[in-house]
Order: sequence, then structure tokens, then C-alpha cells
Amino acid sequence: MRWIDTHCHLDAAEFDADRAAVAARARAAGVAMQVLPAVEVANFEAVRALAHAEGLAYALGIHPLCTGRADDADLDRLAEALRAHRDDPRLVAVGEIGLDFFVPGLDAQRQERFYLAQLKLARDAGLPVILHVRRSADGLLKGLRRIGAHGGIAHAFNGSREQADVFTGMGLALGFGGAMTFDRALQIRRLAADLPDTAIVLETDAPDIPPHWLYRTAVQREAGERSRNEPGELPQIAVSMALLRGVPLQAVAEFSTRNALRVLPGLRALGDGPGGPDDQRLRGAMGVSGTG
Ligand SMILES: [Zn+2]
Repeated sequence: MRWIDTHCHLDAAEFDADRAAVAARARAAGVAMQVLPAVEVANFEAVRALAHAEGLAYALGIHPLCTGRADDADLDRLAEALRAHRDDPRLVAVGEIGLDFFVPGLDAQRQERFYLAQLKLARDAGLPVILHVRRSADGLLKGLRRIGAHGGIAHAFNGSREQADVFTGMGLALGFGGAMTFDRALQIRRLAADLPDTAIVLETDAPDIPPHWLYRTAVQREAGERSRNEPGELPQIAVSMALLRGVPLQAVAEFSTRNALRVLPGLRALGDGPGGPDDQRLRGAMGVSGTG
């Protein structure tokens, strides 16, 4: 079975000690491709370099939680980076961008300004978007209606069924991951069970959103236990979706991969993922050596 992790922060500091082993475990588990979204200008180069080193894909954008310390010059830097890497086949989206109305202390208007500006950059670059949505589905949809988008993903989707249908009607897929492994996540599990096959992509959001078997309570964390998610968990997370939908795991692998290739068309050129024949051809064509 082949899997695509459509959202993984493999460049995060949590992986500094063992990043190569984490990437190798993901490959061994059948996760043939990962999309690494940037969160601010400071990590643009890190996600790009890592995607090239590991045969993965990346996105460039400014995360809503990072808008507090970003400024207008950062939007110019994003525009420049999108221009500079326009011909890089591993750049597949603008993200992670969006709105977060859950975390206290964020300036909503500032978030909106960055969101709309980045939607325009994505539209003009012809790239899909990877959206962060937390209590913000309607605000995100408003921007999409106003500016338009070349499809993409509403990542870690947690809105209503009505909102889900509007996103998919606008050409976006909805990202599901570790949250649906929790019995108490009723709304997310209902969506994971009921949405049409064509609406769903899979993601880990690693190192965040651990599935229930990796989750550590506040007390455990205080005692020094870590709860770190990783991309190699994706197939096990997908078992939850197969159970919720009452379909074989193979069916989940097939529709989620097909959808990821549809909403992030740049992934198609990357073919069969790290180490595969397409990847080796691509590396040869780009003058990149080694298997990462
Ligand atoms: Zn993320």
C-alpha cells in the first residue's frame, strides 16, 4: 500500500535528533510521499532543502500563528521565494496559511490581512493552498470566494458538514489525521465516516496531533514523557478511517492517494516517491545526487 502524508513538519526541532530515522521509518511503513509546509520565512530554506534531501515535497507560506512576528517584508520575501522556485517540481503549494480563532491573543485583522495576501500570491503563482482552520472555516471560505484558489487542502479539518461541503465544492480536500483516532472526537469521526471518498486526504501534522496511542496526558508530560507524532504513523492512523467507513484499508490508501494527487497536482510529477524510478529520474534531471 502507498500512502501520502499531505502535512508533516519534518523540519521541526522535535526531529533534530533522529530526522533521518523518522524519514526512513515512514518509507518503510509505505508512506511514499510527504508534503512539508513552511510556517514562516525563517524555515523556507529548511523545508526546501529537506524536501530535496529526502525526495519529498514542500509548501511555502506564513502560518497564522506566526503572523504576530511577521511583517509586510515577509510577504515580499514569500513572493520572491515563489518566483525563485517556480520551476522546482517539489514546490507543490502555498502553505501553511489560514486563520486561527481558537488560540487567544492573536490579532484577527492581522491574520486576515496575511491570509488574503497569501491567497493572492497562490492564485497568481497557479499553486494550490494548504489551509490551517481552527474555528475559522467561514472566514477562510469568505477569502476563497473573494480571491479564488487553485484548490488545495483544508488541513486538520474540524468544521461542520455544511462547511465541509462548501470547501469540497470549491475544489479543496479535507485533511484527516490523529484526531479521528480518539473516541471522543465525535464530529471529526462522523465526517471521516460520512464524507464522500473524493473529499478526503490523510495527514499526520507530525510532530503534532498524535493519535491516541501516542498521546500523553499533561501529568505524563510533566513526568518527562514525550508525545511526538511521526509520518510513519500514517497507515495506522488510516486504520481508524477504514473502521469508521467500514471499508478495507486498501480502499482508504487508494482514494486518499488519488485525492492528494488531484488537489496537489505537483505531486504527480514526483511519481512514486523517494527512491523510486521516477524519483531517480527526477533527481538525475535536476542534477541532484544521492538517495537522501
Ligand atoms: Zn501544520
